[in-house]
Amino acid sequence: MFNVEHIRQDFPILHRQVNGKPLVYLDNAATSQTPQAVIDAIVAYYSNYNANIHRGVHSLSQEATDAYEEARIKIQNHFNAKFSHEIIFTSGTTHGINLVANGFSSLLKKGDEIIVSALEHHSNIVPWQMLCERSGATLKVIPMNLEGELIMSEYHKLLSDHTKLVFVNHISNALGTINPIKYIIDEAHKVGAAVLIDGAQSCPHIKPDVQALDVDFYVTSAHKMCGPTGEGMLYGKEDWLNKLPPYQGGGEMIDQVTFEKTTYAGLPHKFEAGTPNICGGIAFGAAIDYMNGIGFDAIANYEHELLEYATAKLSEIEGLKIYGTSKQKTSVVSFNLEGIHPYDVGTILDKLGIAVRTGHHCAQPIMDFYKIPGTVRASFAFYNTKEEVDALVTGVKKAKMMLS
Ligand SMILES: *Cc1c(COP(=O)(O)O)cnc(C)c1O
Repeated sequence: MFNVEHIRQDFPILHRQVNGKPLVYLDNAATSQTPQAVIDAIVAYYSNYNANIHRGVHSLSQEATDAYEEARIKIQNHFNAKFSHEIIFTSGTTHGINLVANGFSSLLKKGDEIIVSALEHHSNIVPWQMLCERSGATLKVIPMNLEGELIMSEYHKLLSDHTKLVFVNHISNALGTINPIKYIIDEAHKVGAAVLIDGAQSCPHIKPDVQALDVDFYVTSAHKMCGPTGEGMLYGKEDWLNKLPPYQGGGEMIDQVTFEKTTYAGLPHKFEAGTPNICGGIAFGAAIDYMNGIGFDAIANYEHELLEYATAKLSEIEGLKIYGTSKQKTSVVSFNLEGIHPYDVGTILDKLGIAVRTGHHCAQPIMDFYKIPGTVRASFAFYNTKEEVDALVTGVKKAKMMLS
């Protein structure tokens, strides 16, 4: 049974005060909070078996290696990858995207095309622009409509024999739109293009099945799904990962090294140069265990309730406009008060102990589309409550009174 009060007991930080008020944490799309089970995994690692992995014969190194590789298998199972070596540990979504973009440099040529979407995070735009500069390929953009949805008929028009890669986020961090990625993947495959999905915003809410999606690459960050920062994963189909050259050179990723020639290690080590964030990988596994313990169906149902409640309550405020009204969306509400800068609203909310994000949310093209400097974004997690939504609504009303 889903019991939010019970769940909140798992998160020490939710019991602190900010500016003399109980913390109301509504910035989950930027980073999620950490349950005790994950904090315990981190403490246990550094207290009991901190050692470098894959190279030591001693017991500590063995224990650390086993725990790290167990975490990889947890991630494999969670995302339903066929092989554990299709899971590459990264420092996060940004790292995963750059790894793939770098790998494609040698596979693309002038005249090739890459398709991204108008709903992307900067980390899913800039690496492709850099890739285009290196390879001579051209960037095309799937446009969006006023509801914040990608226009699939326009996507269709962009696809051709020239299309080599399609990059779309599963869920938009700025608006919460859930994109029709299965359709996007299938259509791309019809013209022989590979697809990378940015799952940074989806993994906190749903459990993607990479085989059912038939996606070529899927990336995410641990810190948005109850795990630590500086940790994440890249899933890639075995064939693709074998085709891509290594991203960084160093220890761990080699087979034989001489000054004449180096041969690379097999998957996954080919992409994991240097000592990784060992503790981070183990804690990522603990976060996945924790979230599965609650259950992604229960999480999605409850968060949908919060979204509907917050949308209804905020919509009652005169002069408040919500951006991103797709029918398919997660628990993100991006909004502005007429004539008031989002930063000013955020500052007043902070005085009341309410944490929201203000600004362009690393998605400036979306803000340009709506011709606004940014929004106030409240993003809800499964540990938020209706009372916290009420606190937000009261806070926004107060901000409106003070600023208008
Ligand atoms: C947060 C986020 C990223 C970047 O994740 P990092 O952990 O900062 O690398 C990329 N894409 C989306 C959609 C995000 O929400």
